[in-house]
Amino acid sequence: MGVHKGGCLCGRVRYETIADPLRVTTCHCHFCQRATGSAYMVEPIFRVVDLRVTRGRSSIYDHRSEGSGKLVHIHFCASCGTKLYMTFERFEASCGVYAGTFDDPNWLQIGGGNAKHIFIEAARHETILPPGIPTFLQHAMTNDGTPQEPVIFEKPRVVGKGRTG
Ligand SMILES: [Zn+2]
Ligand SMILES: [Zn+2]
Repeated sequence: MGVHKGGCLCGRVRYETIADPLRVTTCHCHFCQRATGSAYMVEPIFRVVDLRVTRGRSSIYDHRSEGSGKLVHIHFCASCGTKLYMTFERFEASCGVYAGTFDDPNWLQIGGGNAKHIFIEAARHETILPPGIPTFLQHAMTNDGTPQEPVIFEKPRVVGKGRTG
């Protein structure tokens, strides 16, 4: 619990969260790879009411999800280009923060009951998937709300070497 602050590279947009995340999703899909410019996105999900922008104003890019057809609203700093968080047409009460924008990205616990890795079928080769955390080939839930069965690895799994599913 507690207040955790974050912001963009240039400092014009600042935010804070006032609660623990509901869950932490690490997403390996190509959208997240392209949006972050990195191998995957670490995405703590908060209730929208638990995130507030405390300085400046973010700009919004609306991206239509290929999977659901719904809009993903990407909030970013128009001055420096840093992406800060996402809100969702499909899940209006939730938002997903780009975890690396927290002043202390390590305040988040990843593990225990609230973590999962999704879209591991799209994960970059050489990515190491941790043991003991539910992983899903794609979403944890299909568009019609059907939960998918996770795979939990017993040892670290290197993507691209043998099966990842
Ligand atoms: Zn900025
Ligand atoms: Zn993704």
